[in-house]
Amino acid sequence: MPKEINFDEFDQWISARNSEQEEYLQATREIARDVIDVYNENQDYQQYDVLRRLSLPERIIHFSVTWLNDNNDVEINQGWRVQHSGLIGPYKGGLRFHPTVNESILKFLAFEQSFKNALTGMPIGGAKGGADFDPRNRSEAEIMRFCQAFMTELQHHIGPNTDVPAGDINVGAREIGFLYGQYRRIHNRFSGTLTGKGLSFGGSHVRTEATGFGLIYMLRAVLEHHNHKIDGLTVGVSGAGNVAMHAALRAIQLGAKVVSLSNSRGCLQYSKGFSENDIRWAIDHKPENKNVLTALQEKIGGDWHADKKPWHLKMDIALPCGTQNELDEEDAQALTNNGVKYVLEGANMPCTDAAREHFEDQEILFVPGKAANAGGVAISGLEMSQNANFQRDSYNEIDDTLQDIMQSIHAKMVENGTRDGKVNYARGANIAGFRRLADAMVAQGI
Ligand code: GLU
Repeated sequence: MPKEINFDEFDQWISARNSEQEEYLQATREIARDVIDVYNENQDYQQYDVLRRLSLPERIIHFSVTWLNDNNDVEINQGWRVQHSGLIGPYKGGLRFHPTVNESILKFLAFEQSFKNALTGMPIGGAKGGADFDPRNRSEAEIMRFCQAFMTELQHHIGPNTDVPAGDINVGAREIGFLYGQYRRIHNRFSGTLTGKGLSFGGSHVRTEATGFGLIYMLRAVLEHHNHKIDGLTVGVSGAGNVAMHAALRAIQLGAKVVSLSNSRGCLQYSKGFSENDIRWAIDHKPENKNVLTALQEKIGGDWHADKKPWHLKMDIALPCGTQNELDEEDAQALTNNGVKYVLEGANMPCTDAAREHFEDQEILFVPGKAANAGGVAISGLEMSQNANFQRDSYNEIDDTLQDIMQSIHAKMVENGTRDGKVNYARGANIAGFRRLADAMVAQGI
């Protein structure tokens, strides 16, 4: 029988099933808070119990990864693939290799991915995977053997119409190449089973740049909607990986002043604003036992703040592009004290709940990662269709499509998140994603 649910009932139900999985509970509660009214107004949603069903992954695959290091010692890691929702297309989402990876983190990322992928409008379901492997200080040969051992396990569960992994933290073009190579050797066929592949073997133009560029296209859409222009604004970026670097690059190209980058050890402040060439140099930089920010500072100068985040600097726009929960309430307070106007998440859930609430209270425009960083997976979706058709689109075609997709996600958030003339982007994203998944769930029955 259809039955309404209130937030506390939902919270008890989800908490009982996911004890001590804090990141996962944070992500599910955040969406439930925004969509519970939509759920309670729709008899079909209640009849098919869509809220609770969407809050649990369809499947979790957990495996051991055994491999030999350079000393010929056996090493064992844990690997996972969380297939959250296949309702609207093949499972799709990245792989993360990081010592902090655990089931809670991958479940939250897979859950967010389903909503993000729904927002792109493409036929792609949500998943995430990875391992607790730390690639730092590992040789290239060790990374290759780890990727091969990981794929030997994962290949049982993926395929171009089943589940299509891609990169995430510490899984870039090099790792995707190793993973893809192992998949191809085992299956003896070309297929679009992974995205983010090299251009010479089925990769798509703009895939590497897509998350960072898409973030800036979203920023442009948000600014236009509020009658502002990116030109001349000061932007603070955290992180120094693929997303951070490409966001910084596109922001600079569109006339913004980017004053920071960061890593887990501290933050590089560059008050004059990095040039396009500085960032291009950093993107091309291959580390020689030196991290990219140390190398960049040696080249161009700037102030290094050890153990600090960029959020104490003065900026109009904050782009957290590092990792989950990197920006907390104190940081949010520092940002608002310094006059920040817009916060767009380049990473997945980099703002804590308290930080988000602070931005909402202070009426700072906040765009959640599931919308703001959806450009990456959207171009993965285009890579899948290019592979299926054995064809390749040009750089400009893909870049134009990326701009259109970010515009259309912006429009969906405005449509679903505007109240009394004000947009709540987080609410708009949650409701738009939820409706698409819930409608598919109802249509497909039990
Ligand atoms: N890891 C990226 C994300 O968080 C990309 C996933 C993909 O391309 O499948 O959306």
